[in-house]
Order: sequence, then structure tokens, then C-alpha cells
Amino acid sequence: MTEQSENSFDVLIIGGGPAGASAGIYASRAGLKTAIMDKGLTTGALGITSKIANYPGIDGEIGGAELLEIMRKQAVSFGAQFINDKAIGTDLSGNPKLVFGNQGFYQTKTLVIATGSMGRSNLIKGEAELLGRGVSYCAVCDAAFFKGADVAVTGNSDEAIEEALYLARFAKTVHFFSPTVELKAPENLVEELHSQPNILPYMGAVINEIAGNEKVDSVRYSQREKGKGEIPVQGVFVYLQGGIPITDFLQGQLELSPTGCLVVDREYQTAIPGVFAVGDVLCQHIKQAVIAAADGAIAGIAAEKLLRGKKQMGFDWSK
Ligand SMILES: Cc1cc2nc3c(=O)[nH]c(=O)nc-3n(C[C@H](O)[C@H](O)[C@H](O)COP(=O)(O)OP(=O)(O)OC[C@H]3O[C@@H](n4cnc5c(N)ncnc54)[C@H](O)[C@@H]3O)c2cc1C
Repeated sequence: MTEQSENSFDVLIIGGGPAGASAGIYASRAGLKTAIMDKGLTTGALGITSKIANYPGIDGEIGGAELLEIMRKQAVSFGAQFINDKAIGTDLSGNPKLVFGNQGFYQTKTLVIATGSMGRSNLIKGEAELLGRGVSYCAVCDAAFFKGADVAVTGNSDEAIEEALYLARFAKTVHFFSPTVELKAPENLVEELHSQPNILPYMGAVINEIAGNEKVDSVRYSQREKGKGEIPVQGVFVYLQGGIPITDFLQGQLELSPTGCLVVDREYQTAIPGVFAVGDVLCQHIKQAVIAAADGAIAGIAAEKLLRGKKQMGFDWSK
């Protein structure tokens, strides 16, 4: 719309699942400077789905990650910028709104939150107590503190693998604990992980406890068919998934329902004008890809109307 610096946008979307990709398609096609920020291809609900057969327009089965790549490419083809980064904080108090990522910070006139509901409620024993004392969620931020050290990474997505590969440049040994026997990530990344000499994979292995008093000393784990073990480490990087809406990066700046979901009006706008939320991060609908995509389309159109000073969509929901 207007001249803006590199990291300033008309519409910034956090989350590139079907909800976020669809919002990106509509916003960029409307000529708005749009960016979709996402932390990985195989970390969200669609990205981890092995086969989907009920998405309109797709005949037969398709892998969730493959479908997602098509959606993201479509948004990029209309001019949306794709940013591979994880949102870790926001400041929604002013205009523009600020989003802080692992790799930098971004400014935006309107924000669409589309982070899905793969957040974790069950922490590993010791994780909360040792957070910042060896436990971390960001290799880019903290890897340099672990030069020459032994560390553990746990997860099975592309995000977990990329973080482990980054850590391997600093740490002496990266012990990689995948809760599943197979990794849920693109083949080339899996190969890269397995070919890295200082990454030791433990497949089908769950970390039961992060042990230590003032700092991390070791991880205690159980591995399928191999039993229990303990490994001394100085750092633990956690990239696991669960089943609650991902809103931690908002740090209480938006109202949540008692079940932890973001609250929006019927045009998907939160209590803060210009901040929208769509898809599984809401609790108001059936969790299906096509419904998340429809939410994203509505928010993309609503953001455009808001920015261009047009009347809001003017739905009459009373009928
Ligand atoms: C196993 C399984 C099978 C399913 N099968 C079907 C099916 O057959 N058909 C169907 O229609 N639906 C199916 N679903 C449901 C469907 O996948 C979801 O409803 C849909 O993906 C929700 O879309 P979303 O964009 O809201 O969230 P998601 O798809 O979860 O996408 C959220 C995105 O946000 C990103 N993200 C999260 N936090 C951050 C952050 N802090 N910073 C940056 N990026 C972040 C994630 O990386 C992710 O890409 C299935 C779900 C699961 C789990």
C-alpha cells in the first residue's frame, strides 16, 4: 500500500498452516504488503498429517505437508513473503504492532494469528524449573552458550531437526531424542540429521526427566525396546507438540477463553482492532483444514477492508 521498510508489512500472519496460508493468499492478492511467518513445515496439524482426502479440489489422497506447500506457494505467487521464523513475543499496544521472532523483529499494520492448536500443556519433569538454566526453546538464541558442550534436543519435526543441525555447529555432541521411530520431516532434512557425525539420534525415545539443581546436569529417558537410560548434558532444547492453542508468544495481551482459545468477533477480529485470529487457535469450529482456510480468507478480506478504510464486511449475523 505505502512505502515501507524491509520488515514492515500491511498484513503479517503468524502461522503458515491452511488458515495462515489462506489469509496470505487473500491479502497479497489484494495488493497488500503481506508476510507469512512460520517456524516449520511439519510442526502444525496439517503439516504432520500423513494423508488427507477430503480437501476440496484435491482428487484422491495427498500428504498434509505436500498440500501445505501448495498453499504456501500460491500465497508467494501473489506476492506474499514467506519468513522462516518463530514468533516469541508481540507488542500490540501501538501502531504499528510489533512481532519479535528468533531471527529479528517485524512491524505490521494488521496482524493475523494463525498458530493452530499444537501447543504443549504437559511439560517434562524438571523443564519449568530449569528453563533458562540449560533448558531452551531456541537454538539460534542460545547455541553459542553451549560451545563444546553435550546437549539434548527432543522433537520429531523439521523444526527440531533444523535446531539440532544448528546446535551441532557449536556443541560437542547433540543427543537427538525423537518420540516416534520415524521422523516427521522432509527426507533431505532427515538424511542431513543422520549424516551429521556429532548428532546421535535416539529413535522412539522419550525424555522423562531433565535433572539438575541450579543447572541442567542430565536427561533421563526411556527408549522403545532398549529401556531406560541417563546421559549427562548441559543443555536441553525442547520442540515437542501437544494439543492446546499456541498463544504463549502473546504474553497475555489478548483475551483467552477458559479453554485457552483466542476470542474473536464474527469477522475474526480480536478485542484489539487490526488483530485477527483464525483456524484451530480458536475453539469455535470443527477442526478441519477447509474450515481453517475459510477463516483465513475472511480475515484476509477483513484486513484489507480495514486498511483501505472501507466499511467492515457488514455481515448481518442476526439473520
Ligand atoms: C493427525 C491429524 C489428522 C488430521 N486430518 C485431517 C483431515 O483428514 N482433513 C482435514 O480437513 N483436517 C484434518 N486435520 C485437522 C487440520 O489439520 C487442522 O484443522 C488444520 O491444519 C488447522 O489449520 P491451522 O492453520 O489453524 O493450524 P496448523 O495446521 O496447526 O498450522 C499452524 C502453523 O503455525 C505455525 N506456528 C505455530 N506457532 C508458531 C510460532 N510461534 N511462530 C511461527 N509459526 C508458528 C506452525 O508451524 C504451523 O505451520 C487433522 C489434524 C491432525 C492433527
